[in-house]
Amino acid sequence: MSSELLQTVKSPAVNSPHRTFPLERTRNIGIAAHIDAGKTTLTERILFYTGMIHKMGEVHEGTTVTDWMEQERERGITITAAAISCFWPEKKEQGLVKLFEGEKFRINIIDTPGHVDFTAEVERSLRVLDGVIVVFCGVAGVQPQSETVWRQANRYKVPRIAFVNKMDRIGADFDKVIEEIRTKLDGYAWPVLLPLGKEDQLRGQIDVICQKAIVYTDNDKLGSTYVITDIPAEYQAVAREAKAKLIAALADRDETMAELFLEEKEPSPLEIKLAIRRLVVKNEFVPVVGGSAFRNKGVQSLINAVVDYLPSPLDIDPPKGHHPYTHAPVEVIVSDASKFCALVFKIWSDPYVGKLVFFRVYSGILRKGDSVYNVRTGKRERISRIVQIQANERKDIEVVYSGDIAALVGIKEVATGDTLTAEGFEVSLEPPVFPEPVISMAVEPKAQSDREKLSHSLQRLMEEDPTFRVHTDLETGQTIISGMGELHLDIITDRLRREFGVSVNAGAPQIAYRETIRKHAVGEGKLIKQSGGRGQYGHVILEMAPLERGNGVEWESKIVGGTIPKEYIPACFKGIQEALGAGILYGSPVTDLKITIIDGSYHEVDSSELAFKMAAIFAVKDALKKADCYLLEPIMKVEVSTPSEFQGDILGDLTRRRGKILNVETKGNTSIINAEVPLAEMFGYVNDIRSMSKGRAAYSMEPSHFEEVPVHIYNALLDQKKK
Ligand code: GDP
Repeated sequence: MSSELLQTVKSPAVNSPHRTFPLERTRNIGIAAHIDAGKTTLTERILFYTGMIHKMGEVHEGTTVTDWMEQERERGITITAAAISCFWPEKKEQGLVKLFEGEKFRINIIDTPGHVDFTAEVERSLRVLDGVIVVFCGVAGVQPQSETVWRQANRYKVPRIAFVNKMDRIGADFDKVIEEIRTKLDGYAWPVLLPLGKEDQLRGQIDVICQKAIVYTDNDKLGSTYVITDIPAEYQAVAREAKAKLIAALADRDETMAELFLEEKEPSPLEIKLAIRRLVVKNEFVPVVGGSAFRNKGVQSLINAVVDYLPSPLDIDPPKGHHPYTHAPVEVIVSDASKFCALVFKIWSDPYVGKLVFFRVYSGILRKGDSVYNVRTGKRERISRIVQIQANERKDIEVVYSGDIAALVGIKEVATGDTLTAEGFEVSLEPPVFPEPVISMAVEPKAQSDREKLSHSLQRLMEEDPTFRVHTDLETGQTIISGMGELHLDIITDRLRREFGVSVNAGAPQIAYRETIRKHAVGEGKLIKQSGGRGQYGHVILEMAPLERGNGVEWESKIVGGTIPKEYIPACFKGIQEALGAGILYGSPVTDLKITIIDGSYHEVDSSELAFKMAAIFAVKDALKKADCYLLEPIMKVEVSTPSEFQGDILGDLTRRRGKILNVETKGNTSIINAEVPLAEMFGYVNDIRSMSKGRAAYSMEPSHFEEVPVHIYNALLDQKKK
């Protein structure tokens, strides 16, 4: 079907004539889920059916393409989101109706991890995606991490399709999972492809819109062949009812469908699909597909659904950009004809080619040999290599267009969240929001001679992963690393040993505290040395204001008329960043505040980047003293599931741990307790809960937010530190 008929495609005229895939036939998608729901298996199957790989790997054999890292294979979890491109021709199939029949698509897939310790990976990939497949287990339904991913997808307004996987497992219940998506996730979810049969009788799918059965051929274990037939008699009533409900649900939200509904006209399959596409793109509808990745059932029609319903880069709102210094909004127009602008969303050290910098192009074109400007550092670099990952191959490419996802090789100073642009295009794209690390520990190299190597390696890891931080404790001189959980830090120390060849001794995990301010304050800093020869001159005045909890740190410059020359502003920002690394109360990083440089002065000869950086550091420290600082601690969202007989003991214990009980739900003889508890009180909980419940209760926890540390606890912390 031609693009003009699709209301959601705004303007096909933005394509360069040289690109192989027009923007409207590009899909940048992610696959997200709770751990073990089947993302890796599904990704593998998609790569197989799109012809990118010729043999299927199985997760339990440790051979899948997206599980790149050794530890991932060992631990069986996907830690890094690998970006992979594949191609899908939407074929004409007798009996089925497709929106883009006969057209070929490029699908870029970002595999996202399911473990809560790696939320940053999920956050940053969602930021650059246009759509996501959320995978649910047909037995377990909506699990805590699927809720987290769903919320994150809401935050970034990412349209989605739900895939209810594992319909071959005993106890799989398609309708129950849909019900949970509606009640627990508030998703307007309706099935478009029902599983045909279930458990060991799963044979394929029922296409609700076309009222056809897709039946897989028994003798093809790889699931590459199926036939499209009439729906078997015993499923016809269910299929008809599902279609009637789908049409009514669409009519409730879509005007065109509502009109047909009122006129009592039966919409055609094409009209239904167009309505779904319109609503999905607006994030008002979630199509649900049932199947089994492992049994090779239903993956092809899921890919068709991706192409038909998920947006192209043109269908979504253009990214929000602002001027890097003044923060005035800057328009970024998704088009090959615009100036180049891209967001770095992932940095990955590849053992063969070195640093791979994954980026998403929002506007313009980048060719090998062009220079890019890094808005944060104010530096430019020439691009010598661009690669695209296709299965486990790195393919060198000459040019990338708007909407593309690819990786750069050989660029030096760059960090996750950086905006890269064409020279002279001063715009900063909104970087993903990353949660603050909650746990930290001291590390030191086993061999003293590795000291420098360690600090270099940690620096590299920090560039890759924005939820991983490193700082030096000013009092003890120890190197402290912080991250999202013990597993996260375990993996970091593992990688230090394997990839960087540095073995470390690690201390016990500690709470990662934060500091913040209560009051607005102004600070002034000067570095002036003018005794003979070339001196030093830097002078900065800045304002500090509290931000709401969870907003992190923002800074901007309101300098007008050049009281601080423009070329020194990045140095001031560097100083601010450095000063906020260690607060004045407890030496913890400072957060949730906004800093505005409002004034300063300079000297024609003596001013330098270093002088302005130092002046900014002094100014921040000066302002912190006046801003009424206080300490914050990480609070965890804890879910305990226990036989009801232990509920009382467990509740009492959580309260003693300064926990806030949010709700208690009873399902049969099981109680589900939801609470918020300071992480500081959760050490040793694994053992305590085991002994309280004779080993029968289970719990999961994930970082929720930060809260002020009560005064008596704060005083005890200070006493401890003095000892
Ligand atoms: P991830 O953690 O979400 O990436 O999940 P994996 O793809 O690693 O799958 C977790 C486990 O579930 C593996 O043992 C898979 O073989 C298995 N699995 C995945 N999909 C299915 C399915 O459709 N049916 C069944 N029975 N098992 C599946």
